[in-house]
Order: sequence, then structure tokens, then C-alpha cells
Amino acid sequence: MTNEDGNKPRVALLVTDLDNTLWDWFHAWHASFGALLDGLVAASGVERSVLEEEARAIHRRRGTTEYSWLVDELPCLQELSGKVTPREAFDDALHQQNSARLKETFLYPGVVETLTALHNAGVPVVGYTESPRFWTEWRLRTLKLDGLLEAVWSPRDHDSPKGLDPVSLRRYSAENYGLAETKHENVADGAVKPNPEVLREILAPYGVPYSEVAYIGDSLHKDIAMAQDVGVIDAHAKYGVSHEKPAYEQLRRVSHWTEADIEREKLSLPKVTPVPSYSLAKGFHELLEIFDFQSVRAAR
Ligand SMILES: [Mg+2]
Repeated sequence: MTNEDGNKPRVALLVTDLDNTLWDWFHAWHASFGALLDGLVAASGVERSVLEEEARAIHRRRGTTEYSWLVDELPCLQELSGKVTPREAFDDALHQQNSARLKETFLYPGVVETLTALHNAGVPVVGYTESPRFWTEWRLRTLKLDGLLEAVWSPRDHDSPKGLDPVSLRRYSAENYGLAETKHENVADGAVKPNPEVLREILAPYGVPYSEVAYIGDSLHKDIAMAQDVGVIDAHAKYGVSHEKPAYEQLRRVSHWTEADIEREKLSLPKVTPVPSYSLAKGFHELLEIFDFQSVRAAR
């Protein structure tokens, strides 16, 4: 995969999607949400379908399927909890969810090695995700990527319930939250991929010509469409496209997506599906084979 003149394209800045590009979000979400549901069904006796239906209403209201106060707001559990909060009454189920999340969140092979190589070469890597801020930071810390990415862009967190300070619900001391080295920026409220304005805003501080910027992501309609719209080099993380059907079905049952979103997702008409310039079937590490990464400082 080379230019017409036989050289690999030179890249001085990499922008990367996070979920299903650096790690398998789909798999980890399914494992952790499934563990929560199993635990709640066992402890409460409430039917799974009732929990799912109520969860979906809350996820839609909050605009995320990773809502930290879900259990407290499920009406069927509020009724059963008596004098304590549902969070306290169903602590075991929450614990099972946390354990599953921790166990099933892992990087794809070669990600650390690739990011380290770029870091050592002086090529900045910037993350851009649609996941909320809190869980994005949790994943970056847990997977030890703090500092390997120069910056990360995400939406700000979903609103917390009135009168509830998120910090008061956290189990650890303050130094266990936030990122030490990676700079965290918020995208404008309501801005979703594939919005070219967001990507231009992410690129602006670096002053790298778009012809030397690469963008990698697993979604053809979001990531690749946005990269091509802006005119940077696009690379499809094909290895990250999830084929876990049960996970997708579970996500659909409780997703914050509206029917209109799901219809749009289904209408992936072949004629409008972008054809990626580069397709990575094996893994993130293929970036090192495809591109000639050089820092702006070294190259000029
Ligand atoms: Mg993704």
C-alpha cells in the first residue's frame, strides 16, 4: 500500500476513534450489562423484560447506554427498595457489573506497541469518541493509555440526578479519577459523528496539512465518512467491526437510540457507504506497515 511514487504516505498526526478501534467496547458493554441484569433478576425477582424496558426509557432520556445512576432510577426497583436506595439494596448486582466490566475491557493486540512507537517517534495521537467523559477516562486509565494519547475528545457527561454529586458516589479517592497526562476536551453539545466541524476543530491546534493526517475508526458511516469529508487520510478498523449478534440484540433492547436512529442504521444503502482508502483487517498495528510516521519537528 504505497503512493503512486512507491512511497508510503507520510503521516505526522493520527486521530483515532476509541470504542471498537482500540478496544472491544461492544463486548465489554454486553458482558457488564448482562451481569447487571442477571444480578438484578436474581435479587429482585423482576422479569428481565421489565428491567430492559425501564432501562431503555432511562437510557433514552439520558442519551447514553452507560448511565451510572441507572439502578437508582428504575421504577420497579425503587418500589422494592424500601428505606434504602436501589443502589444500596442491589449492591451485589452493581458489584457484578463492575467486575465484569473490568475483566472484559481489554485492548486489541498490538495497540500499546503501536501507540508507544508513535509516541517515541514524536507523532501525536488524538482520540475522538462518542462515549461519555467519565467512562472514557475510566477506560483510558484502566488500559494504561493515559499519556500515550496527547488528547482525547468526548461529549461531556450525562446530567447527574439533581442533588447527587457524582464524586459522593465514587468508591475511591480523587487521584483515581481524571487523566494525569492526556488532555481531555469536550466536543460541542449535540455534535455527533460524522460532523466534519468537530474533526476540523480537533486538528486545528496542530497545523499539520490534512494530507499528512490519518484518521482510523471502525464505523464506515461515522468515522470514514467524516474523515473523507474533511479530506484527511482515512483508515478503516475493519478488525473492530463487531459480529457479536447477541450483544447487538441486547443493545437494541435497551439502547438510547430512537426508532428513527435504528431505521437510519438499518438503511445502510450500499451506494452511500463510503469505501475506505485503507482497510485494516488484522489490527491497529497495521498502521505501522501502511504509513511512514514522522513527527512534524523531525520532518522539517
Ligand atoms: Mg467506534
